[in-house]
Amino acid sequence: MEATSGERHHADAVILATGGASYPATGSTGDGYRLARTAGHTVVPIRPALVPLITAGNIASRLQGLSLRNVHINLLVDSKKAGEAFGEMLFTHFGVSGPIVLTLSKQAVDALGAKREVVLSFDLKPALSPQQLDARLLRDFEQSPRNSFTPC
Ligand SMILES: Cc1cc2nc3c(=O)[nH]c(=O)nc-3n(C[C@H](O)[C@H](O)[C@H](O)COP(=O)(O)OP(=O)(O)OC[C@H]3O[C@@H](n4cnc5c(N)ncnc54)[C@H](O)[C@@H]3O)c2cc1C
Repeated sequence: MEATSGERHHADAVILATGGASYPATGSTGDGYRLARTAGHTVVPIRPALVPLITAGNIASRLQGLSLRNVHINLLVDSKKAGEAFGEMLFTHFGVSGPIVLTLSKQAVDALGAKREVVLSFDLKPALSPQQLDARLLRDFEQSPRNSFTPC
């Protein structure tokens, strides 16, 4: 039932389905939180989750467009492992994105909000031991001697 201004409706429960505050262009401007507060509810502080991450330095921008599969990421907070994920990711002009970055983003956002140091450690070939990786790189160099190699 649509309520016009000034009407009162009584209900046992109300579902507030106004979305979050992450994408105002879709109509979700955070109104729901304001309405809930006005009605006397406590609203916990909202923060981003399932988001890409902006990284320091220029390594990500130099690798922008590089999309990787079967990558392992460790999320370190103040040098301690706080999370990990395995799967797909990509480098963008501002940082990193993709499913496994989004998965870890909530923990990263919370840690950054608490002014803690956040480091992402990437293993781009988690299925290979360091010796296997060495052998693989040497084989690739031998097979493509004319290719140039630019370390990041
Ligand atoms: C780019 C993008 C990609 C996504 N991809 C996926 C995906 O692949 N898979 C997945 O599961 N989820 C995805 N999501 C998340 C998913 O869209 C949301 O989790 C979901 O839409 C939330 O549903 P909701 O009904 O809570 O809010 P919404 O879908 O945001 O709906 C809230 C509605 O309330 C309306 N509204 C707000 N304030 C008022 C007001 N004061 N008065 C009247 N109406 C109001 C808004 O206009 C809107 O229509 C994606 C989100 C984005 C932004």
